[in-house]
Amino acid sequence: MDFEDFRAHAHRFSDWMTDYLETVEDRPVRSQSRPGDLLAQLPASPPDAGEDMSAIFNDFEQKVMPGITHWQHPNFFAYFNGNSSPPSVLAEMLTATLAAQCMLWETSPAANELETRMMEWLREMSGLPENWAGTIQDSASTANLCALIAGLERATEGRVARKGLAGETTPIVYASSEAHSSVEKAARIAGIGSDNVRKMPTDGAFAMDVTALEAAIREDREAGRMPACVIACLGATGLGSVDPIRAIGEVCRRENIFFHIDAAWAGSAMILPEERHWMDGIELADSYVFNPHKWLFTNFDCSAFFMRDPSELISALAISPAYLQSPDGEQMPEYRDWTVSLGRRFRALKLWFVIRSYGADRLRGMVRAHIDMAKWLETEISATPDFEIMAPRRFGLNVFRYNPGGLDDAALDALNTRLVQAMNDSGRLYLTKTLLDGRVVIRFVIGQTYTQQHHVESGWAAIREIAAELA
Ligand SMILES: *Cc1c(COP(=O)(O)O)cnc(C)c1O
Repeated sequence: MDFEDFRAHAHRFSDWMTDYLETVEDRPVRSQSRPGDLLAQLPASPPDAGEDMSAIFNDFEQKVMPGITHWQHPNFFAYFNGNSSPPSVLAEMLTATLAAQCMLWETSPAANELETRMMEWLREMSGLPENWAGTIQDSASTANLCALIAGLERATEGRVARKGLAGETTPIVYASSEAHSSVEKAARIAGIGSDNVRKMPTDGAFAMDVTALEAAIREDREAGRMPACVIACLGATGLGSVDPIRAIGEVCRRENIFFHIDAAWAGSAMILPEERHWMDGIELADSYVFNPHKWLFTNFDCSAFFMRDPSELISALAISPAYLQSPDGEQMPEYRDWTVSLGRRFRALKLWFVIRSYGADRLRGMVRAHIDMAKWLETEISATPDFEIMAPRRFGLNVFRYNPGGLDDAALDALNTRLVQAMNDSGRLYLTKTLLDGRVVIRFVIGQTYTQQHHVESGWAAIREIAAELA
């Protein structure tokens, strides 16, 4: 493809992109593909001769698009959102074009310095302590792993990076039973193991029981084990619960245990002063992560990871072979030493575009509007006899179930499972379920960029209609 062809296709694609976003509502939210649909249409071997871009693009529209679930559809209420916005997409086009490998300051000084400043902007917008430093990780999963690595480094007084865990007593990680699966995965990757992740019981609002945490730490110390890290949820994935940050922080300070906060989803709501009470005690934490790629209108991947003092993590990760030495870089943080991969995308550009294009006020307004819609829905669900709220609303998440009466728990589980399936098969909206004390419950998350009140209203109407048909 020569550059004139590239120009022509780039224009055509940008028209397609705009049309797609303008008409995304006409598509079923969740892909209606069946397993193997696309595989059956793809040749088993690669073409020997190059093909025309028009043919490739035609297959993209005809074959690939039916297998896409539309995350930018305003009726996407499943999981947590992976939202985006026009300024973010524009930045990603530039990032893809530059294709800069931002592994060192020298390999793109602007990427390094823009990242530093964007993390300062996010820190200020989120009300995080002023002296914290941050870097952009690919995902909260990686940030959680980095926190465990820093925690091990502290607990072993720097031995683990050199000598490994073999000569150490058993390291222990503490999190609530609501913590994200990436915590356990990180423990496996770090060589700690799932069995050494203590899943603390929770209270009536599904927040970590701090008395149980203290008791577990005491018991582990008495048995000669090594408490290495506590990970608190600020907005857990299943039910949105928030652990008591200050109380956990006080325990961690007293015990000198690394304290990390996983706010992957709800961290975006901390740009709202009225929501900051949830992070009371944040200054007691050692690290904090939230994903602008979930709820701050910025394309995946963009996970903002902050640390009170990055030196433990750097001491655990930094290795400087001769081929990576760059003298000027020594004056700047080299973010490759703050994470797993060496190679880094230029992720700060999309944040810069998003924050400048909307401004902090408008961003606050957009997140606040989502939470207001969730409050409206909460009131509706509470007022509707055949539905029941199952967990307290947190931010943009409502957790509920359909309960038309006269059914036992097992039958209600089956009914709600069928309801979620039927809603998602309808293409009208997309929701997911989870378990609460073993019971099937439905999660309705509001956080898509283009979602407006009327989408939530029609989504709620669809739920009641489909439920009535099933009953
Ligand atoms: C989504 C989520 C994660 C995982 O985020 P990734 O960026 O996809 O790794 C971790 N923790 C919580 C609380 C989450 O909601």
